[in-house]
Amino acid sequence: MSSCWDIVCVDCKAKMGIENANGAAELMRVLIAGREGFEKLVEKGLDSGTLEITADHMACVIPEFFSEHQGHLLKPINEYGRYDDQCGKYVRCENCDASHYCVLASDHEGEHQLKKP
Ligand SMILES: [Zn+2]
Ligand SMILES: [Zn+2]
Repeated sequence: MSSCWDIVCVDCKAKMGIENANGAAELMRVLIAGREGFEKLVEKGLDSGTLEITADHMACVIPEFFSEHQGHLLKPINEYGRYDDQCGKYVRCENCDASHYCVLASDHEGEHQLKKP
C-alpha cells in the first residue's frame, strides 16, 4: 500500500505539511536527524518559505518548522496518521470487520493493539 509521509510535532500535534512524499519515511527520518542544521539556517536568516528537496522524492521542507518546534518530539507520520516507528500491521477488527493498524512499537511482543477508530 502506498502512503505519503510528512513530519509531525507530537507535542503540538502540528504537521509540517509535506505533500506527495510517497514512501518517504526514511527521508523524513533524515530530515529530522538534520533538524539542528535547519534551525541554524533560520538563525542565519535563511529567507525562504520552503526548501525544495528533489531526490527519489520531492518534498517541500519548511525550515521554520524546525525552529518553531525546537526541542519538541518530531516524528515521521503518514497520511493515515501512523508513525513510522509503530508496528503498523493491518489487522481485521472482530467487532466492526474493518482493518485497523497496530499502534504499538515496531518491535513489540504479543498481541497487536489496533488503533481505535
Ligand atoms: Zn511543537
Ligand atoms: Zn503490532
